[in-house]
Amino acid sequence: MTRRQCSGEYKVKPIKKEIRKLLGYPYPTRVPKGVFVEQWIGISTDEFHRAKDADVKYMRNRHPLIDMDWTRSDCIRYLTSLGLADTPKSSCLGCPFHGNAQWRQIRDSSPAEWADVVEFDAAIRKGNARANATGNTLLGQAFLHRSRVPLDQAPIDHVTRAERAALDSAAEAEADAAELGVVNGCSPWSCRGDEPEQDDFGLAS
Ligand code: SF4
Repeated sequence: MTRRQCSGEYKVKPIKKEIRKLLGYPYPTRVPKGVFVEQWIGISTDEFHRAKDADVKYMRNRHPLIDMDWTRSDCIRYLTSLGLADTPKSSCLGCPFHGNAQWRQIRDSSPAEWADVVEFDAAIRKGNARANATGNTLLGQAFLHRSRVPLDQAPIDHVTRAERAALDSAAEAEADAAELGVVNGCSPWSCRGDEPEQDDFGLAS
């Protein structure tokens, strides 16, 4: 796994930029003391260790699910009561932490998004364009899938032991389905890229 700047570059920076704009103090204008936004972040009690204070004074983080003492199961129950039981974990489309289940889901349900991630995967083969431009070329090649073959040829139809166990256990399948693939979703303030790596069986390495 190479160094990643995805959350910082594509989420945190644009959010801070927009917040400053909304407050009326775009960068590099100083935000006056006492001027801030309150930002609500959906981290459940299972992941309380991911809840952090903002790193700038013009943002204050609130974690309403933790305030309500809601677990991931409480969230799923609530979403189910609204007819939204299939709500996926939050993540970017082309996340290198996707498991096969997520890749299959994109391929089988959204051809346009699948074409997008296949194209993105091909585009990153030589690594970071900016690094290449400055002579810091990648030693080797980059791939989105852990098999290190192009995404449209990767063995994403391989069903892992964990997935098989969930499929074999009809009673548990519904609950376990939410756990397949990566363990956690990703938000700008709790990036799944910061978590220990998981293998195909959901075990931390
Ligand atoms: S979901 Fe998180 S770890 Fe994955 S690409 Fe997006 S920001 Fe990076």
